[in-house]
Amino acid sequence: MVPGVRLLILGKQGAGKGTQCVRVARHYVVPHISTGDMFRAAGRMGTEFGLRAREFMDAGELVPDEVVIGVVRERINQDDTANRGFILDGFPRTTEQAEALWDMLAPRGIDLAIDLELPTEQALRRLASRRVCQVCQTNYSTENRPKHDWTCDNCGGEVVQRDDDREEAIRRRLEIYEASTEPLIAWYLERDKLVTIDAMGNPDEVFARLVRAVDRRRGVHG
Ligand code: ADP
Ligand code: ZN
Repeated sequence: MVPGVRLLILGKQGAGKGTQCVRVARHYVVPHISTGDMFRAAGRMGTEFGLRAREFMDAGELVPDEVVIGVVRERINQDDTANRGFILDGFPRTTEQAEALWDMLAPRGIDLAIDLELPTEQALRRLASRRVCQVCQTNYSTENRPKHDWTCDNCGGEVVQRDDDREEAIRRRLEIYEASTEPLIAWYLERDKLVTIDAMGNPDEVFARLVRAVDRRRGVHG
């Protein structure tokens, strides 16, 4: 078995990518690389780059390919990812990004692209109730609140609704997902890198399915 694991996750907004990636990162001891989290952090720091990214994000639009590709390239080349592997969350989102990633990772490439599959009406329901810690990005919902008001259990940060989880932006993001990102499912399938995971059910159930699929693919039996 090759050490480390190189994973990426596809799936529409609300499918549970962020929640699953935190668990995957812990389980396989790999960095969780979320382009959305990276852009939100840059936005809070108020750098020129961050503020420009935030304009796209708040409108539900994609940040331009060349910008995202540059950010990911820099992150992927750091020692931890080069040695241990990674789980990529929110990247790639377009064919151009997928092709750039393919070239970046040659010759070994990625091990597996995980498609987290959820019906749109379920995704909409999850998004409307989603709340997130502004500091550490832990996900909550109106049904699964922090213990004290809206203060994060993990870090004490403020738990809020994301600016792009308002209805207009959600609709736009789902449209873009269908037009630009969904075609990547076929793209990875053609390259024999795809596994589809049913995202219905609670996070533990989904995670168990996911680990089973990844381990089967890596040749771990049991
Ligand atoms: P979600 O998957 O719920 O839309 P993310 O946190 O992954 O949330 O992304 C939030 C926003 O960040 C996107 O709507 C987009 O504006 C920007 N973004 C993140 N990743 C990318 C990417 N790979 N390409 C272009 N824009 C991106
Ligand atoms: Zn927190």
